[in-house]
Amino acid sequence: MSAQIIDGRAIAAQVYSELTTRVAVLKAKGVIPRVAIIHVGTEEMTKRYVTLKENAAIRLGMECVTYHLVEDVSQQRVIELVQKLNADESVHGILVQMPLPDSMDTKTVLDAIDPEKDIDGLHFCNAGKLLNGEPAVIACTPRAVIRILDETGIDIMSKHTVVVGKSVLVGRPIAICLLNRNATVSVCHTKTQNLGDITKNADILVVAVGRAKMITADMIKDGAIVVDVGMNRVDGKLCGDVDFEGCSEKAAYITPVPGGVGPMTRAMLMENTYKSYSSKA
Ligand code: NAP
Repeated sequence: MSAQIIDGRAIAAQVYSELTTRVAVLKAKGVIPRVAIIHVGTEEMTKRYVTLKENAAIRLGMECVTYHLVEDVSQQRVIELVQKLNADESVHGILVQMPLPDSMDTKTVLDAIDPEKDIDGLHFCNAGKLLNGEPAVIACTPRAVIRILDETGIDIMSKHTVVVGKSVLVGRPIAICLLNRNATVSVCHTKTQNLGDITKNADILVVAVGRAKMITADMIKDGAIVVDVGMNRVDGKLCGDVDFEGCSEKAAYITPVPGGVGPMTRAMLMENTYKSYSSKA
């Protein structure tokens, strides 16, 4: 079997097209949608992700203000900036670019954001609502995974879905989103034994680990749907957590890296921003 490659850029382009029209309608009423990004440090990849998000916002006709802070800025200073942006009514969405320096407690910083302006959906209130199945700002990467499956016409309900990775910000909310859609979900991590035996049973396999090409063809079943969230740099080139060449021979559907979950995550960030904006405009 040769897998159908899911084009995340094409699905994202549809999302942008719809959002551009909706933003223009609201802007005509006189309220400018404004996003604030806080970026700490000088790491090149992180800077690149910030630029991609800025460009996505500008492409939709939104204003985007980025605060670039030095690596050794104090956590208190970052929280003060978040609080200032919370209080600023002209700002509709706030995003703190991950990762933060090791000296900071990521959750403390994220939880300082007004949950209604939390366009990344990582505030504990939004995470808690997601857990309860209540309406919430849902984290962008989990939303991207679900939207990719929906737009590809894949029925999630009752599918045995394996999520590899259980991080608080990525793997767990993906698993909860899938559970909320009535998939049967297994979650794997570093203490999981015989990982390949579990992944091989997955109808839908979602991998969010951060280890280049660790999922190989012998670890998936024939006809599996493989969604690769991983983003790794190998010899300067971006690749996922899935061995794309090998697995695409066996899967029914597979997302590439680049061009899969990444562009859809940014599109979902813009949808979250639009929702926050439209509730105030
Ligand atoms: P993370 O915080 O480092 O978490 C990695 C998870 O993978 C942990 O739960 C860890 O298990 C598990 N893991 C690590 N090695 C493993 C192994 N050999 N076998 C099984 N499980 C293993 O990383 P993250 O923030 O969740 O991000 C994961 C990946 O997604 C990264 O490549 C990141 O760049 C990417 N990402 C992509 C997007 C996108 O838009 N495409 C967005 C966010 C993140 P333990 O919990 O046991 O340590």
